[in-house]
Amino acid sequence: MYNRVYNFAAGPSQLSLDVLEEISKDLFNYQGTGMSVMEMSHRSKTYLKIFEETKATIKEVMNIPDNYEIIFMQGGATEQFSAIPLNLAPNAKADYIVTGSFAKKAAKEAAKFVDVNIACDVGPDYKRIPKQDELNLRKDADYVYICANNTIYGTEYQDYPDTGDIPLVADMSSDICSKKIDVSKFGLIYAGCQKNMGIAGLSFVIVRKDLIGKHRENMPVLMEYDTQVNGDSMYNTPNTFAIYVLGLVAKWIKKLGGLEAMEKRNKEKAKILYDILDNSDFYIGHADKDSRSMMNVTFNLPTEELEAKFVAEAKKEGMESLKGHRSVGGIRASIYNAMELEGIEKLAAFMKKFEEENR
Ligand SMILES: *Cc1c(COP(=O)(O)O)cnc(C)c1O
Repeated sequence: MYNRVYNFAAGPSQLSLDVLEEISKDLFNYQGTGMSVMEMSHRSKTYLKIFEETKATIKEVMNIPDNYEIIFMQGGATEQFSAIPLNLAPNAKADYIVTGSFAKKAAKEAAKFVDVNIACDVGPDYKRIPKQDELNLRKDADYVYICANNTIYGTEYQDYPDTGDIPLVADMSSDICSKKIDVSKFGLIYAGCQKNMGIAGLSFVIVRKDLIGKHRENMPVLMEYDTQVNGDSMYNTPNTFAIYVLGLVAKWIKKLGGLEAMEKRNKEKAKILYDILDNSDFYIGHADKDSRSMMNVTFNLPTEELEAKFVAEAKKEGMESLKGHRSVGGIRASIYNAMELEGIEKLAAFMKKFEEENR
């Protein structure tokens, strides 16, 4: 009806049509207010209702316990690379498990502020998630940092590391809300919203209450978690529209059956593509089997020329942004929550045809 493509971009990425239709329905006149959400005061009654509903729905969908705070910030996931060491390290010691580019960047940023120990680095090819016995964790670290899903390389934690009493901090930018997780296992979880939770310009942070308020003395006020909590994410004007979209996405997830249903659907989708990789010597998967991401499927073809041809022909057939990240090349299909099964089936059929014609 709208002539839309299947968008396999890693982020910003596809939104569900349900959410887009809801936005378009409300765009000029939100529920009789005579204005759009974009034009509303963040302190208005109507907006505060949207805000509270968003928080409540995401809390319910992710089953976030009461001893956690939800904070909305701006500056993307990358801002949290700095905010986390500034807020959570009273002893200025943090352990980082490096499984890809974003964890590496986060560790580099943290090292400006605290003593960083690289507990493990599975590079340079980043095909896998390390095992517990490979981790060199310190007993006196303030937190242990992981990147739950490595968007660029296509690997994902299946089981999270055991860090005992030391808070586990996770960047879940690219797999948040894709499956059920036990929030109580984490000290802090965060995500940039443009992959699985809506649109760019909003970061979503869940932090355990007892970890708040131990930040260093001199730091940018907007990065202080306690300031954000005390002002209910409205110390300054928040990204009102992105919070509204997050609320719609959370309601959409709920409507589809919550995170259990999402997980089932995502497993099914990923399996279709991984089955092709497993039954082909034309397509070569990047990630080790036990570390594969359910969200970003990465693979190579026999030559770079064939990869370019693959991307171009797929685009002609209405499948966009299949080119791998510029730092690693190859092909990457990002198949977040909003990618429909039909999009996966279309890609799978294309892959089979392309292999037959080009092998
Ligand atoms: C996209 C992404 C980031 C960077 O997000 P920004 O919002 O652009 O800062 C960080 N971590 C992961 C895992 C990502 O997928």
